[in-house]
Amino acid sequence: MVIVKTAREISKMMDACRISANALRVAGEYVKPGITTWEIDEKVREYIEKQGATPSFLGYGGFPASACISVNDVVIHGIPSKEQILKEGDIVSVDVGAFYEGFHGDNAYTFACGKVSEKAQKLMDTTRIGLEKGIEAALAGNRVGDIGNAVQTYVEARSYSVVRDFVGHGVGAKLHEDPSIPNFGKSGHGIRLLPGMTIAIEPMVCEGSYEVDVLDDEWTTVTVDGKLAAHYENTIAVTKDGPKILTIAG
Ligand code: MG
Repeated sequence: MVIVKTAREISKMMDACRISANALRVAGEYVKPGITTWEIDEKVREYIEKQGATPSFLGYGGFPASACISVNDVVIHGIPSKEQILKEGDIVSVDVGAFYEGFHGDNAYTFACGKVSEKAQKLMDTTRIGLEKGIEAALAGNRVGDIGNAVQTYVEARSYSVVRDFVGHGVGAKLHEDPSIPNFGKSGHGIRLLPGMTIAIEPMVCEGSYEVDVLDDEWTTVTVDGKLAAHYENTIAVTKDGPKILTIAG
C-alpha cells in the first residue's frame, strides 16, 4: 500500500533526511587511504546517535552496522569490517539512513578514495547524473516507470548497465515502503506518482553486466563479472511543484 504523507509529515521527515545526509557527509570526510570501513561506520553511528536519532540500518533484517560500505565490485550491502582497509583508487559506496521522530531518511553516495581512475570517475559521474534524471522524472502524474526509464536510458546510452535485482522504494515511517522504484522500465507504466509520496531513488550502475551475486554472509552484493559498480541515492518527495530532494545536508 502506498502511503501518501501530509505536508506536515514531510516537513518532519526532512529532519530525519537531513541527519541522514549529514551522516553521509561525515562518512565521505573519512574516506581516505588507510582507514578501515569499520572506522567509517563508527563515525557514522556516533554522528547519528549524537543527533538523538537511530541508525536505520543497524539491526535491520539483522544487518550488523549503521552504514553499508561497498567497495569497488561490491554493489550494495557491504558490511563494514576492521579487516577492510581502503586504498588509493578505491570507489566506496556508502549507504546510510537515520530514524528520527517517527521517520526514516535514506541516502547513498559513491566516494572516490584518493585519486581514482578515469573509468571509475566516469562510472561514478554517470550514476550520479542517472539519479538526477530519475529525480527529474518524479513528477506528480507521471508513473514509476518514467523514473526507471529516465535512469536506464541515460545510463545505457553510456554503455553501462543498471542492476535489476535491487530497486528503490517508498520510505517514511518504515525504511522500505511501497512502491518499489526500479531503475529500469517503460515510460507510462507502473503506479502513478501522487503529491505526498516519499520515495528513495537509488540507481546501482555497473561497468559491465548488471548481474549480481549475494555472498555467503547473505548481505554483500557483488558484480558477477568483478567489474566496478556505483550507487547514489536520495530520498525525495513528489509534490505538486515538482520533486523535492529531502536528503540535503546542512
Ligand atoms: Mg534505499
